[in-house]
Amino acid sequence: MTANLSTLTGMETPTDLLIGGEWTGGRGGGRLPVIDPATEDVLVEVADGTAQDALDAVAAAHQALPQWSATPPRQRAECLRRAFGLMTDRAESLARLMVLENGKALRDARAEALYSAEFFRWYAEEAVRIEGSVQIAPSGANRILVQLQPVGVSVLITPWNFPAAMATRKIGPALAAGCTVVLKPAGETPLTALAVASILQEAGVPAGVVNVVPTSSSGPVVSAMMADSRVRKLSFTGSTEVGRVLLRQAAQTVTNCSMELGGNAPFIVFEDADIEAAVEGALIAKMRNGGEACTAANRFYLHDAIADEFTAAFSARLAKMAVGPGLDDGTDIGPLVNSDTRSKVAELVDKAAAAGGKVLMGGSAPDRRGYYYLPTVLADVPSDAGILAAEIFGPVAPMVRFTAEDEVIGLANDTEYGLVSYLYSGDLRRCLRVAEALEAGMVGINRGIVSDPAAPFGGVKQSGIGREGGHHGLLEFSETKYIAVDW
Ligand code: NAP
Repeated sequence: MTANLSTLTGMETPTDLLIGGEWTGGRGGGRLPVIDPATEDVLVEVADGTAQDALDAVAAAHQALPQWSATPPRQRAECLRRAFGLMTDRAESLARLMVLENGKALRDARAEALYSAEFFRWYAEEAVRIEGSVQIAPSGANRILVQLQPVGVSVLITPWNFPAAMATRKIGPALAAGCTVVLKPAGETPLTALAVASILQEAGVPAGVVNVVPTSSSGPVVSAMMADSRVRKLSFTGSTEVGRVLLRQAAQTVTNCSMELGGNAPFIVFEDADIEAAVEGALIAKMRNGGEACTAANRFYLHDAIADEFTAAFSARLAKMAVGPGLDDGTDIGPLVNSDTRSKVAELVDKAAAAGGKVLMGGSAPDRRGYYYLPTVLADVPSDAGILAAEIFGPVAPMVRFTAEDEVIGLANDTEYGLVSYLYSGDLRRCLRVAEALEAGMVGINRGIVSDPAAPFGGVKQSGIGREGGHHGLLEFSETKYIAVDW
């Protein structure tokens, strides 16, 4: 085991399950190792939740629901606002914790710590703005009263790539709406979730409102919760593949679902784009979080007239990026999260090269301990290469040439995914025309990042159902009640 976690982070982090306000080793008593991707060593072990632990957590959330949903919105808001303050104060420690369990560079982790805290601030502000409506029925016979009520006990499932932000993006609106939750974080990154839960406790969130159950057996643990009729909401962020499994399970109990699934973002650069700005945006869209983001630019479509200039400038910037342990000063790109992720990235690159893509840089894993993969640029990738259809989830940029606007819209939309698209052009009319034609829940115009707690984040097609963030995020945890009144 590596050095003491609290020494490395400057903060105590719980390593047990949180059920009904108590930290517990769980009924099974098993422990789950958390691996540092930079060293491949075990960092620490956390309690390994069982299906029975998960049901205990559902029971605790169910018990806490009546009181929490009846708590005045202002009080719910103030809990979230205090949690925002505590998270902001501890941003550096949280960032270090994320680096240790996820591998990302400290710079990315610091940005995530602050971004994730913002969801608590935003939803503190939203909690007191839950509106309904009253109207006169067209017949004049009665009034139509419409009210928003909390949907109820919510199961939240989060991935490892943004261990803090994916948790707060769900917990914030759930608590603001008056719901109670059971959070099941990814097995790779339970520590950040436990640290966030501990902050919420400290902020005054009552026992049972937030429960956390890390587990090494997510399939049985989650299906036990999904089969429990006390659970009324599933909010899932993860792969499309697992999302499909969970939608099938939700059908059995007709549970309300929000799905934030995979992406395959096109990054389009037109001939009239500001190339310097496009390169800057591309570096963010591709390399933030080492490429392990659902919003990561996955396919670069470059107009033939600027393809060489863009590729050269982008590669030159990539060549300067330092690969190393996330905690080291100056590291731009840390290791990938685990060995399977690295193998998948390596296989996609090898196949793309075999299909005719030119490896301009990178294309291999460095010879060192840790799950590293070198920043890679693949030029002139054929438009039917497999790498363009798969979510790469690594620091690899495949470049494809195009010549016409219609052609590139067709290429961009030729995917089962529809999370985000990016486009660069100096012509705003073209930008808006293309943005409307792109099949994506979000479009970045002359911008390499779209995430914002105040904006509705989410995808179309097989990238998901529903939105997180903004006012829309609150509605996902609310049920609409219509009351016909004759007064
Ligand atoms: P994943 O394998 O789908 O896992 C996501 C979560 O589901 C984890 O907590 C995982 O736990 C759990 N899980 C896995 N199998 C399960 C099952 N059979 N039943 C119930 N739960 C199960 O995804 P990931 O590899 O962690 O994350 C990467 C994926 O998330 C990418 O596809 C990415 O695009 C997507 N993502 C989407 C968004 C968005 O907002 N659209 C944001 C971030 C990431 P264990 O891993 O412990 O089994």
